[in-house]
Amino acid sequence: MHPDIATSIANLRDRIDSWRAADETIALVPTMGALHSGHLQLVELAAERCDRVVVSIFVNPTQFGPEEDFSRYPRRPEADLEALGRVGVPLVFAPSAEEMYPAGYATTVKVAGPSEGLESDFRPYFFEGVATVVSKLLISCFPDEAVFGEKDYQQLLVVRRLVSDLRLPTRIVAAPTAREADGLALSSRNAYLSAEERRRAPLIYSSLQGAADALRAGAPAASTVNDVQERLSEAGFRVDYISLRHSETLQPLAELSDGPARLLAAAWLGGTRLIDNIAV
Ligand code: AMP
Repeated sequence: MHPDIATSIANLRDRIDSWRAADETIALVPTMGALHSGHLQLVELAAERCDRVVVSIFVNPTQFGPEEDFSRYPRRPEADLEALGRVGVPLVFAPSAEEMYPAGYATTVKVAGPSEGLESDFRPYFFEGVATVVSKLLISCFPDEAVFGEKDYQQLLVVRRLVSDLRLPTRIVAAPTAREADGLALSSRNAYLSAEERRRAPLIYSSLQGAADALRAGAPAASTVNDVQERLSEAGFRVDYISLRHSETLQPLAELSDGPARLLAAAWLGGTRLIDNIAV
């Protein structure tokens, strides 16, 4: 059975209010749709933790730059509803752009700190768009918990910062990155890859793994990161960044011993931008 669909914030709140009146806990899983099994793992985690799961599906225009893939971003509402129905999600929030951004809107949310550098160096609009839409989603339903994927690690930290700074009453839960058998992180954008690019794409993850092993064995950070960069470039990737960062602050780490570490990468394969990260 398909989930019910709320397209307005008022309808969403009505449903949430009825669950609250019955003392049920609520988890929100925000997505842009074109759901894959990574998204469904977030839903499963949410369902283990709370009585009711709401999945939002909204391709958020404000987090795409003017040259980016907003118009061609995959949209598969029927398949999404079917998949969510199969895992027992009772309610999908699927607002229009006008519902989320009323005519003349003039309010945005900007998080400094963890949003600086990395993705922001290459996608300057991205985190303000994400922070704004996540704030609106959280304020629209005040869930007990909201689940985000570690696949978008910087985004996860930005959301944590935002929730803490705005004192929103929602616990942010992180879900590990779901991967294909060959290691490629699941992503709606993988659909853009040609068959030949798809064969090369797992090199991002295997290179990160190799680098993490080398770092743990005592290899110097700068040359290890350089090696990954070269390996990917030789294989035809255009690397935006490979960077060793503190896993909580995202400050650059000169050496592994300087703190709990995360290795983050973004690279283009043809016209597709892939991101990935691992704990070191
Ligand atoms: P998106 O629809 O790409 O905006 O992603 C919605 C949520 O799913 C975000 O919290 C992502 O981090 C998460 N997500 C996307 N891909 C994966 C994956 N491969 N593993 C775990 N979480 C993911």
